[in-house]
Amino acid sequence: MGQGLAPFGYCRACGAPLAEKIIEDRLRAVCTACGRIHWRNAKPCAGALIIRNGKVLLVRRAVEPFQGYWDIPGGFCEAEEHPAETVIREVREETGLEVELTGLWGIWMDRYGEEETLNIFYLARPLHRELRVGDDASGAAWFSPRALPSRIAFASGVQALRAWAAGDPTPFYLRGVGQTAP
Ligand SMILES: [Zn+2]
Repeated sequence: MGQGLAPFGYCRACGAPLAEKIIEDRLRAVCTACGRIHWRNAKPCAGALIIRNGKVLLVRRAVEPFQGYWDIPGGFCEAEEHPAETVIREVREETGLEVELTGLWGIWMDRYGEEETLNIFYLARPLHRELRVGDDASGAAWFSPRALPSRIAFASGVQALRAWAAGDPTPFYLRGVGQTAP
């Protein structure tokens, strides 16, 4: 429970050290000088299962974490950016593809290093065929549901892709519930 508090060692308001304290049934980081509570909330991220001819497009990560692993294209939402806009921007940056969103696949909780993340996975289809891999990736490839790669980045990515490959009948608004990453 305490591991996630490490990045918040000092108060962002006054610079004094933080201490851990139970507030509303959870361990929180509280400033020892001004008393400010530093709430922890998952950061929203958006990704896309881009499907063409029954195959899903994955990109190979060129950077840590999970360097060399296959990843669902996507990334962090900017402060005032809707996740549907995030995913279209990230897919363009990482793959060069323009995509049309066709559905919502599900929402999975996960971690990115020390950060808790809320991962919204859309379904999408490409509007053209030209792939152009961006700086954060070292490759891109299409995978059939029966031949997903063994090294998939992030627990949420593994879970979302396995659910897709298995044709998980769970309604989209419940998919990912209870599958929080350790
Ligand atoms: Zn303070």
